Amino acid sequence: MEIYHGNIVYSESVKSLKEIKSGYIIVDNGVIQGVYDKLPDEFSKYKVIDFGNNIIIPAFNDLHVHAPQYPQRGIAMDVLLYDWLNQYTFPLEAKYKDEAFYKSVYSAFVNDLIKHGTMHAVVFATIHSPASDYLVSELEAKGIKAYVGKVNMDKDSPDYLVETTDASVKNTEEFIKKHINNKYAKPILTPRFAPTCSYEILKKLGELADKYDVGCQTHIVESLWEKEEAKKCFTGCRCDMQIYQEAGLLKHKPFIAAHFIYPSKEDIELLNKCGGYAVTCPDATTNVIAGIMPAGNLIDTGINLAIGSDIAAGSYLGIYRQVASAVRLSKIKSLYEQDNRTISFEEAFYMATLGSGEIFGKVGSFKKGYDFDALVIGDLQDPFMELPPKQLVERFCYSGDVTSIKARFLRGKSI
Ligand SMILES: [Zn+2]
Repeated sequence: MEIYHGNIVYSESVKSLKEIKSGYIIVDNGVIQGVYDKLPDEFSKYKVIDFGNNIIIPAFNDLHVHAPQYPQRGIAMDVLLYDWLNQYTFPLEAKYKDEAFYKSVYSAFVNDLIKHGTMHAVVFATIHSPASDYLVSELEAKGIKAYVGKVNMDKDSPDYLVETTDASVKNTEEFIKKHINNKYAKPILTPRFAPTCSYEILKKLGELADKYDVGCQTHIVESLWEKEEAKKCFTGCRCDMQIYQEAGLLKHKPFIAAHFIYPSKEDIELLNKCGGYAVTCPDATTNVIAGIMPAGNLIDTGINLAIGSDIAAGSYLGIYRQVASAVRLSKIKSLYEQDNRTISFEEAFYMATLGSGEIFGKVGSFKKGYDFDALVIGDLQDPFMELPPKQLVERFCYSGDVTSIKARFLRGKSI
């Protein structure tokens, strides 16, 4: 049994961010037994690990991140999506056939993810099987709950970054078989996006989804170009989501729709119906993708929302910055399109923790029965005015960085 003392902040629901000043979290075997403002007598015999005035919050979830693009973060931010992909991203992704290269990048990526307080993630790899296997094994070894995808691209891609349909399906099945019984890092189907996938490959991935009960991640209506191009490639479909429905890819959980910036009414209905997640990646969508998810209005439809760093279209791995950016962008969206409402800090924090934690199990909150995956945040109080813990968490998201994270816990273990 471990007892942690400090200021405690966590989401109880989409509208409610709970704050306990000078409270206690009781953890047994990595699982939370209760949160109290006074330590109950029955626990008085145990040693208290005291974080004083520091704040204990749940670790973050990143629901859209491209591990192979990690070396590209923070560069080539002044070009549009097409050039960004063709001049920078695709040539970089082609390098993941080189064992020494992928090992060094993926090890650094996983370490940096943890350093930034992300302990649950949905990750794109590349088309390359050995590199994708290595990425899964790194996450599994560190105990990070994740879904990782070997990417499928069988058309309209550079010659050096494309597979034949048959090879891609065969390699994907091998990838699933290798990792399906992992404890923490599991496989997920990952067709890159509709314009680089044939109908045949999507259908075959749908068969793999049925055979192994695996979910799917992809990019959905991520730009005006992609929205129209997807419909041109799949002429029978009225919207992006329908392509995946027809292929049988919405039947298994989780379904992760990255960006979801320009959804039609039917896209929203289909995503809602399959219980999938729309992932906003605020820095990415302003850096290269050019658009803002209507997050506030989507919350009101009942859709599940999450947040992603989308390295390297996003330039910073810490999800806390994306929480701040999601609020900021919702205000810009609302300024230019007045029928879009803004989102609150509580809503954005929920999206990055409890709201998207469900796909990994009981993570993202400090409710009873949840994993104690937590960060201790400090050094944000200043002497000018005393701020309550909730506002210090907001300050951390806007102006903190890794140096504000004083400790990290994964299922009760300090890491
Ligand atoms: Zn992406």
